Formats: sequence, C-alpha cells, structure tokens
Amino acid sequence: MSTPDCTFKNQAAGESQLTANMIQLTIRLLPLLLAGAALTAQTSAKHARTTNPAQEARAIQDSAIIIDTHADTPQRFLDENFDLGTVTSVGEGHMDLEKVRQGNLGAEFFSIWVEPKYAGHFAHRALALIDSVNQQAGRHPGEMMMAYSAEDIVRARSQRPRKFAALMGVEGGHAIENDLHLLRDFYRLGVRYMTLTWSNTNEWADSSGDINDAKVKHHNGLTDFGKEVVREMNRLGMLVDISHVSDKTFYDTLLISRAPVIASHSSARALTNHPRNMTDDMLRAVARNGGVVQVNFFSAFIDEDFRKAYAAQAKERDQAVAAVDEKYKDADAATRYREHDRAQKEWAEKIPRPPLKSLIDHLDHVAKVAGIDHVGLGSDFDGVSSLPQEIDSVADLPKITQALLARGYTAAQVEKVLGGNFLRVFREAERVSREMQGQTAAQSKAAKASK
Ligand SMILES: [Zn+2]
Repeated sequence: MSTPDCTFKNQAAGESQLTANMIQLTIRLLPLLLAGAALTAQTSAKHARTTNPAQEARAIQDSAIIIDTHADTPQRFLDENFDLGTVTSVGEGHMDLEKVRQGNLGAEFFSIWVEPKYAGHFAHRALALIDSVNQQAGRHPGEMMMAYSAEDIVRARSQRPRKFAALMGVEGGHAIENDLHLLRDFYRLGVRYMTLTWSNTNEWADSSGDINDAKVKHHNGLTDFGKEVVREMNRLGMLVDISHVSDKTFYDTLLISRAPVIASHSSARALTNHPRNMTDDMLRAVARNGGVVQVNFFSAFIDEDFRKAYAAQAKERDQAVAAVDEKYKDADAATRYREHDRAQKEWAEKIPRPPLKSLIDHLDHVAKVAGIDHVGLGSDFDGVSSLPQEIDSVADLPKITQALLARGYTAAQVEKVLGGNFLRVFREAERVSREMQGQTAAQSKAAKASK
C-alpha cells in the first residue's frame, strides 16, 4: 500500500523546481493528490478498524466463507421433530437459522450419525437422517440450500441474500453395511464425507473408542475391504474422514488415500490426552498428506482438567443416563431424545466449563504443529454436552475469530482456519476423483479396443 504513495512523493520532489510550470503541474498532479488523500483515508480507516478487535473480527467474519464440518443436528430433525427455523434456547440446541445468521456460518456438514443400536438396519437409519436434512432445506428455500461441492458452497455464499449451505457426512462406516454399492448410493444422495468409524470398531476398520476392549474383534487397522472402501471414496470424490479411528487405522488410511484426508472433528492429544484426539505425529502426517484437521469444541477434548473430571464421573453418569433412557423407553422419539440429552447435559454441568482459551490453544497447537494450512473448525454442535465458556452456540463463532486475531493471527490466516483450508482440501479431493474416473474410463476404452 505504501508504494504508490512513495512514487507520488518522488515525482513531486523532482518537478517542484520547475516553478514556471507550477500551475500546470498542480493541475496534472491533482488526480495523484486526490488518490493520495484517498489512500491516507483508507489507511486510517484500516488503522481505526485494527484498534477495535471486535469490529475487525466482524469484518473478517463477514467476508470469510465459514465452514463447520460436524454438527449432529439431524438427530434433532428426525427424532425431536426440530425445525431449523425455530429459534431455541442454547440449553436445547446449538443451532438454528437465526443463530447461523448471527454466527455468519456459510456451510455446515450435517452428521448422518448412525448409532450402533440400529444394528440390522444401519442404512435405513442413515437414509432417514439424509431425508431429514433435505426436508429442512426444502422448508427454508430462501435461507438455505443443499450443497454437493466446493463450488456449491461458494455459490450459496454469493446468493443475495446469502444462503446457508447444507452438506452431509456419514459418521461411522458401519452405515454402508459392508457394501460398496451402498457407499456409492450415499454419494449419489449427496454424502460428501464418511468418518471411517464412529466409537465402535466395524467389520473393516478399528476405532479409537473400543481399541482397548478385548471383547471387540479388531483388525490391526484397515482390512483389505477397508482399503477398498478408501480407494472407492477417493474415486467418488467423497472425503475420507479419520476422526474417531484408531491410530493404526489412521496410518493405514494415509498410506492408501490418494486424496487429502480430513479429521472432521478432532483435537490435539498433546494438550488433552484423549485417545480420540490426534498426536503431534498424526498432525504432521495430515500436513504431509495435504489434508486438514478440524478442531472439535467438546470440553472433554480441549481441556485436560475437564477431561479428567468427565472421565471420573463416567460410571455414575452412564448409569444415571441409562436409568433415564429406561424410564422413557416407551415414550415418543422426541421425549426420549430430549430426556436423554437433558440427562447428559445435567451431568456435564457438574463440571465447570473450560475457558475459551482452551479451544483457541488447540487451534493454535494444530496451526503450529501441522501448519496454518491444515487447521479448521469441526464444532460437534448438538453432539456434545459441554462447550467452552463464551461458546454457547453457532452464534458465538465470531468470538473465535476475535480470539485468533488477539493471538496475532493475520486476517488471511484466520480466513484459512474459518473455511479456506477446508475448501482447498475439498477441491483437491474433487480433482483426484476426476483424475481417477478419467483413468478408469481410459482403461475400459483401451480394454475394449484390444478385444
Ligand atoms: Zn463424532
């Protein structure tokens, strides 16, 4: 920004000696003088903005495309009959269209989370959840739209008024019921990532959630079929999500995947020692792979004191929640969901919420270890019973922007964290998919010609 200003000054100094042409010169210089004045005005406006962090955060928040890669709201759509257009208290839920607008969220990956209790009809449950997301988009066409690509996210943002882009990720590879045909069907229905496992090991990939449970049959990472699933996801252009998987599954996946991977909602183990979180070595491996780690906001994943306290109450909490589930087992789905959620939150509220700083520390750690190009946001809204202080819902996302600026991150770096990095990874996975599909087409053409 200083360059045109200097040029102007040098020109003025050189020509000021030609007094005879002073008037003419002034006329000639007038546009430059005006431009200089405009520049000064711009500079001071920018300066004024940086002196008010809240305003600067707001400006970045307005211009960035903000993408969150994990929210469990579809269970609320389906089981609680929740409509995204209804404004709810933060105690009830973390997301509704008004809060999305306040937080300026551009795109959300709604989780198609298939609870293992649906054994025998995993795909059925996934299909119902997929429909529930589509129904929301159908009910609110003026405010939101379904999105299926990186370009769709950008397009939703450029609509006037802006639209909120809804995308979907299947959480738990058991949803495909060991069948690549179903994997392809899910892709056709709009699913753009799949978390290889949830907390349960499935028949082709180990999970971090039960890796120490001797009763569970493990595979030492990915089975041959699991590797085939990853390759097929690459070919389809479905992002491979390594959140929740065991460490060995993680490393197996990185060896197989031709596209960059994502961790849709995972934090750093060096700061909070939970097996669900990623070690520094894993963070560096994702960076080498070109992928992105979207940090989870759950208090027990971002704060060591909270994690310990939460683990200490686990037995008592699980019993109490199970008793609530039992009490309402014959009630309607909405009541069952609400009472279960309430019991979970009541127990989590016995532990003080960690400061927002704990979450920012995780973003900062991933940015330092993996690099600023490999970190993003994976809130886990509506899937967790406790969030850090100041983050009550999606409406509070600007506070993260503000906190990152306060730590010295530049506007450009913050925009990467808010969504830029994820968009890059999504585009690259789409490119790899086109390349692989092109190769398949060329191979079948060659095979046909040789016959
Ligand atoms: Zn999860």
